[in-house]
Amino acid sequence: MTISRRDFMLASGAVMATAAAARPAHAATVRDLDVLVIGAGLSGLGTALALEEAGLRVRVLEGRDRVGGRLYTLDDVPGHPEAGGNSVAAAYGRVIAAGKRYGVELDDIAMRAFGGGPPGLYIDGAAVAPDAWAQHPRNPFSGEMKAVPPGAWADALLKRHMPVKDLGRWWDAANAQYDISVHDFLTSLGASDAAIQLGFDANISYGTTAHDVSLLMLASVEQWQVLNRNANARFIGAFRGGNQRLPEAMARQLKGDLLRGRRVVAIATGADGAEVYCDDGSRHRAKAVVCSMPFATLRHVAIDPLPPAAQNAAIRTIGYVPITQVHIVPKKKFWESDGQNPSMWTDGIAGTVFAQRFGSDPKEVMSLTCWARGLKAQYLDLLGPEAAGRAVVAELERLRPAARGALEVAKVRSWATDPFAAGVWSYYRPRQVAAFANELAKPHQRLFFCGEHTALGSRGMEAALESAERAAVEVQLALG
Ligand SMILES: Cc1cc2nc3c(=O)[nH]c(=O)nc-3n(C[C@H](O)[C@H](O)[C@H](O)COP(=O)(O)OP(=O)(O)OC[C@H]3O[C@@H](n4cnc5c(N)ncnc54)[C@H](O)[C@@H]3O)c2cc1C
Repeated sequence: MTISRRDFMLASGAVMATAAAARPAHAATVRDLDVLVIGAGLSGLGTALALEEAGLRVRVLEGRDRVGGRLYTLDDVPGHPEAGGNSVAAAYGRVIAAGKRYGVELDDIAMRAFGGGPPGLYIDGAAVAPDAWAQHPRNPFSGEMKAVPPGAWADALLKRHMPVKDLGRWWDAANAQYDISVHDFLTSLGASDAAIQLGFDANISYGTTAHDVSLLMLASVEQWQVLNRNANARFIGAFRGGNQRLPEAMARQLKGDLLRGRRVVAIATGADGAEVYCDDGSRHRAKAVVCSMPFATLRHVAIDPLPPAAQNAAIRTIGYVPITQVHIVPKKKFWESDGQNPSMWTDGIAGTVFAQRFGSDPKEVMSLTCWARGLKAQYLDLLGPEAAGRAVVAELERLRPAARGALEVAKVRSWATDPFAAGVWSYYRPRQVAAFANELAKPHQRLFFCGEHTALGSRGMEAALESAERAAVEVQLALG
């Protein structure tokens, strides 16, 4: 069950080897530990707490110096905007219950989120009035869809023509014929490349372009939206003081160790136990390991022996959406000068701009969050954070001259270049649902998997906790 020296060295590299030599494997190796959980995001913490409740001895290893993973509240930016998970909807039963259980208040934020009205539309560097869009020379849509704003076009078309009828079983083999690219599907409906580029790619939520995301992925998103709409279409919530407060409260309930700053570089598993190696030279051993790492980061970890072919391919290739945010503090209320909504939908590098109203007055705009997604995020990442911040400010100043000199960059947050996330959330590429959906979360000897990417019934934060429930049961069954 010991990992081979070759794999360990491959995973860790020379720097790691030096660190290990300088600081020999220390007392972190505990013989009587039942379970090691990798990652202190919602799914890892949910799994750890469930296992402790079942009487098992658990240790959590977290690579960052904070808990929460993709829940990340910017406490040092006015109004503490979320850089990670934003909001909770009505069908988030596990998340809502966790808030109650761990004493974190959930506030209804519908007014703060939607109170400002629909975002302004900016195409080709200029504002477009809502009633002018249908006749706009750059409008690539056809028929009655011409009146639909670009940000709503793909959703409207997909809802109307979604061929997957049994959304609740979107991953079922019977739907394999729809495991095709969104681009191919939209083309089959008569959409032009220009329409797909503006209406899907420009501010993409899944994939980097319509070419690399499966239509079944969007079926899964649709099924989750239907559940939330049916539960209560108007509810949208966030945890008081920031969503990161939930994982922090969960972490405080752990009985066992939670070791921060432990970046896992190798995992060895066997029939009766598993070992984990960290880049500080520490080595941890237990009867089972639960890994919550996003696959985009797990693909850089040596696993010995390799998981079965389909699972290994999933670890190496499932997609993670690149999103880079520029958080801006406005030094004056420029929207009062030009009379336009501070929130914007643009086809340029600023992406979608959200006015954050999370101060004491729910109407007051505390900051602006610009979301560049897909190819735009990759471009900003190439520029690097400082130049990316300048590029977005320059773009906003061009679009909104009244904002000139009034935009201060508070934070540039690239999720794709974060080594502990490597993207905001997972997505299936064409043909990957059929190949991986039933395989990627299967236990591999004593290595178990949780994390939002492993859930089938829900998405986002709820998916993280759904996966924690499953992983905790699997471990208990295996350990007897
Ligand atoms: C910008 C953004 C907006 C979002 N908006 C929403 C939303 O509105 N609603 C919603 O429901 N969801 C949203 N989400 C998704 C939601 O935040 C995630 O689905 C959820 O937090 C994932 O939890 P997790 O435990 O699966 O993964 P994570 O939170 O990523 O936890 C994995 C943990 O593993 C750690 N780790 C990674 N690599 C290593 C390593 N090598 N060694 C040790 N530890 C490691 C990470 O640091 C992390 O703490 C959003 C996410 C982002 C980024």
